[in-house]
Amino acid sequence: MMFTSHMELALQEAKHAADRGEVPVGAVVVSKDGVVLASAGNRTRELSDPSAHAEMLAIRDACAALGSERLIGCDLYVTLEPCAMCAGVIAAARVARVYYGASDPKSGGTAHGARVFTHAQAHHTPEVYDGIDADRCEALLTAFFAARR
Ligand SMILES: [Zn+2]
Repeated sequence: MMFTSHMELALQEAKHAADRGEVPVGAVVVSKDGVVLASAGNRTRELSDPSAHAEMLAIRDACAALGSERLIGCDLYVTLEPCAMCAGVIAAARVARVYYGASDPKSGGTAHGARVFTHAQAHHTPEVYDGIDADRCEALLTAFFAARR
């Protein structure tokens, strides 16, 4: 099968999040057959829920769509390096591959901080591909925070 990036859809979700006044992060879950199961943007403010990160919402929807707590063979696209909380859920869901855009030295939990996937306690380590459309992912975040200053 040819590789198709779904980062474009994740970027769209991130833009919609910014329009809602949320930190612009978007995520997409794709089945092993290449079908988009779910896509979401941050909704922490709207839902008054600190766990309503794009990845969390997309994973919840994808699991509901499959009727399973596992996303075996699925790929996750997210515009920002997942935080430790999301990385924990990505591992628990047994996501096969993670493609992310911007690096997050402040709150990231995969290449930074807790480094959940390479931690000794990791039950499952997805393949991780970073820097996917990183410039565009980062530009959204930079513009969002610049406008708030
Ligand atoms: Zn997160």
